[in-house]
Formats: sequence, structure tokens, C-alpha cells
Amino acid sequence: MRRLLSLWVVTVVLSLCLGCASPSAQDDCVRFVEARVAAVEPLSRRANLVYWEAATTGKAEKFEESAQLQLQIRRIYSDANDFARVKALRKSGIRDPRLVRQLDKLYYAYLQNQVEPDLLKQIVELDTKVQEAYNNYRATMDGRELTMSDIYTVLTTETDCGKREAAWRASKQVGNVIVEDFLKLVRLRNQAARRLGFDSFHTMTIVVGEQNVQELDRIFDELDRLTREPFAAMKQDLDKILAKSYGVTPERLMPWHYHDPFFQRTPLVYELDLDQYYKGRDVKELARRYYVSVGLPVDDILARSDLYDREGKFPHAFSHDVDRKGDVRVLANLQDTERWMETILHELGHAIYDKYHDPNEPWLLREPAQPLTTEAIAMFFGRLSRNAAWMQQMLGLSDEETSRIKQVSERYLRFQQVLFVRWALVMYHFEKALYADPDRDLNGLWWDLVEKCQLVKRPPGATDAGWLSKLHFTTAPCYYHNYMLGELLASQLHDCIVHQVLKLESDEGLSYVGDQRVGRYLRENVFGPGARYPWNEMIVRATGWPLSPKYFVEQFVDGVLQNGD
Ligand SMILES: [Zn+2]
Repeated sequence: MRRLLSLWVVTVVLSLCLGCASPSAQDDCVRFVEARVAAVEPLSRRANLVYWEAATTGKAEKFEESAQLQLQIRRIYSDANDFARVKALRKSGIRDPRLVRQLDKLYYAYLQNQVEPDLLKQIVELDTKVQEAYNNYRATMDGRELTMSDIYTVLTTETDCGKREAAWRASKQVGNVIVEDFLKLVRLRNQAARRLGFDSFHTMTIVVGEQNVQELDRIFDELDRLTREPFAAMKQDLDKILAKSYGVTPERLMPWHYHDPFFQRTPLVYELDLDQYYKGRDVKELARRYYVSVGLPVDDILARSDLYDREGKFPHAFSHDVDRKGDVRVLANLQDTERWMETILHELGHAIYDKYHDPNEPWLLREPAQPLTTEAIAMFFGRLSRNAAWMQQMLGLSDEETSRIKQVSERYLRFQQVLFVRWALVMYHFEKALYADPDRDLNGLWWDLVEKCQLVKRPPGATDAGWLSKLHFTTAPCYYHNYMLGELLASQLHDCIVHQVLKLESDEGLSYVGDQRVGRYLRENVFGPGARYPWNEMIVRATGWPLSPKYFVEQFVDGVLQNGD
């Protein structure tokens, strides 16, 4: 027995060492990784703190300081000798999977920063300038300054079409203000990417995210095909309702009739206005109570957060992991509406992902597996603001009220998801084309795509750079496809939790309120591992399958035409 055991030990030790790096090479690698983290970690924490201050106050000097810190980090990653070292280490046969994964992370960080110092400086400075201009710009209507919240109020409540058009146009002004600098930035980013052998910055960003363009094209083409007819049917129905409310024919509907500057959200126009259920409610407290009930308390996150509208403050919302050690915060501009209920659930979804990374994983791996996986968690929770069972339990509604909501809200939820596919198609194809050729007629291309994918007519007269008022072009370039993939994963996780974790037949009446198994499953399978595995491997480990559109299509698209919506 003992002999057998020692033979086994020898075999294992031998097989572990054959063809792998020598212990000293492995030690070398550990020292190399540790030294890089020691340089980057404190800078990254400072940069995050300063960025938070900039976003919450709008102060120019803070944006400047934040840019300088970003530049310092990128300079570390632009070192050509270090990059050569990372490439050599990746080929040296190191077997420790955590070390291999950290080398992957370093490889992509170095790869995208192999840019001459001058060009890098220009890119970071112009990027900051564009973001600052975007952040500080205030739209005006009849000489009066408007916040984004004012614009949403007009677009969701105003019946005078002239005022709607003015507010919609006001929401687009910022695009024309920043477009010249923005296109310069696009050209500089392409210049850097082309020197690294990529055809554009768009392609480079996708490769650095461990994704590939052909695969994305395939997924988006499939989604386009599957949603085209269901969307046309739902939109025709919506147009009739909208047209009636404005006293025009459906053919006369213009982009400003759709309640959202980009028609990326469904107008709340069916028999029931979901906003009424959130009126006078504390959406922050609702979110807090919900998250604690599923075993993912967020009190510490909320205590550090900046949640209400203020002069000079960033007008949208984001979640911010300052130090990968639990200092996670949310910036928002909360109001008592369904939109902000969804937003706070969404941002806290990002925040808990960051909060619950396993603290024993190395710093480089204490981040989400991929941007799409953190979007998936945010969307998984954000969807609840329109879920009747969730609303009943959280808002204390009667059975009667709940069943009234259920019919309408399911219709909203389905429409919202199909609409989002159409909108994401516009963003994905536009941004890909923008980086392929920034000198083409972009304004015309934008409306070609909107007309084709969203079935919304371009306004009369010359087209302008209103598209650039969409904040993701400036704050998160070449990122939007991750929202779509995030929706697909949110549905896949939902399916897995319903059938494999809770062992239910269907998700009928399911809200997850009070079920700690949900929090435990997500912590163990998704949040804890962080970036320990390549993203699709994490998904296979967590759900049993690689990422697939199947679950999203089953949940939201199948049945749309049969149900006659
Ligand atoms: Zn998000």
C-alpha cells in the first residue's frame, strides 16, 4: 500500500514537472508579477479616488489630475522590455493556473499600451478633454439650462410636440460641441492600434477583451434575424398608441415622440404606468432591502455612494471599485421613478460583483471575468423593477393589483428586451464602422442604421452629430456589445438558477425576494472567482454551457408573434 502510494507520488511529481518551467523560472515569474502589481496597485487606487472626486464635483483640476494618474499607469504598461518579458514568460511553460491567468491579464494590459509616449500622451489628454466637455455641458432650451432629468421629464410627460422636439434636440446638442475633438481621438486611437498590427482600435479593443469580431458579428446577425419580425409587430402596436396620444398619424411619428432620446427604452404607454408604483417611494431603500434579502448586503456600498442630483455632478450613473479591497461606490441621480429603480438595482449589481471577489485571489484577478459578465449581473437585477412578483413583495401590492401589473409588465419587459437588441445593433454596427473609417458620412450612417434597425424615421433637414450625445462613445468606447452579451448571460444565469439551483419547473411568479440561495450561488460561481478563468470558461463552470443566445430568445423573443403583441 505504502509502496503504491510512493510510486503514485513520484509519478505525479514527475508528470507535474515534465515540460514545465523550472522552480527558479516560476519564482522569477512570481517576482515579476508582484513587482508590476506593486507599481500599479497604489496608482490605480489614487486614480480611482481622484476620478470619483472629478465625477461628483465636475472640477476641471480633478479631471486633469485623474488623466495624469491614468497616464502614469499606462506608461508602466507601455514598457517594451517588460512586454517582451511577459511574452517570454507566457511561453516558458509555467503551469500554476493562477500565475498563467495573471500573465494573460498583464499581456493584454501591455499589448494595448505599446504606444510611443508622445502618442499615448496625446490620446490620454484628448480623451480627458472630451470627457470633461461632455460632463460639463448643459443643454439649453429657450435659453434655459436643462439637466438630463429635465429632458427625461419632458420626453415622458409632455404632450406638446413642439416642446418635445425642442427637448429632444437639446439632448443632442453636446454631440455637435465635442464631435471635432472626438473624431481626432478616434484617429489617434486607430493610429496606435494600427502600429500594433490591428486594422482598427475597435478590433484591438475586442481582442484585448478576449473576444473576436467574427464571433460577435455572428451573434449580432443571429439576433438581428430572430428579432426583426417580432420587433416590427410590437413597434406597429406602440406607434398606434403613441400617434393617438399626440393626435397625429403613425406615419408622422418622429424620434422625439419615443420618450427616450435614443428610443432605447420602451415608452410606458400601455394600460398601466409603472412609474406610479414608485412615486413617493425610496428607491434606494427598496434596493437595500432587496439585496440584503438575497444574501448580498449593500449597506456599506450605499454609505460610500453619491446618489442624488447636484450641480456639476456627472448626470448619469456608474459603479466604481476603488481598490479591489471592498471600497466600492455608486454614483447616481436618483428619483422616484421606475427608470431609477432599475438603475440603482443595476449599478448595485455591478457593485456586489466587485465587493464579493474572493479576497484571497491575487489583485490582478480581483475583477469581473469580462465586462459582459458584470453587465450580466447588473441586468439580471435591473430587470426586477418591471417584475410583477418582485413589485408585489417589495412594494406590498395586493394580488389584484399585482395581476393587473403582471400582464402589462411582462409585455413591457419583453418589448424592452427586443427593443434593446435593435438598439444594440445600431450601436455595434455604427461603432465598428466609425473606427473602420472616421472620415465617412457618419451622421448619415447613424440614421441609416436607426431607420433599418429601430424603424424610427430621421428628422427632416440636415443630419448632425447628435449620435455623439450617447455617452458610451466617450466614456466606454467599443464596449456596447458587452451590454448585449450581458443580456444573453443574464438570461442564461436566470435559467440556471431557476432549474439547477432552485430546481423549479418554471420562473412563473418568481422574484427571488428573500432567497439566500441566489446570493450564495452567485458569490460562489461568479463573484468569488473574479477573473480567475477566461470568461467563457467561468460561464461553463457556472451554468454548464458556453454563452448562448438560446436562453434570452426563449425568455423574451419566442412567443411574441404568437401572443399577438
Ligand atoms: Zn452597467
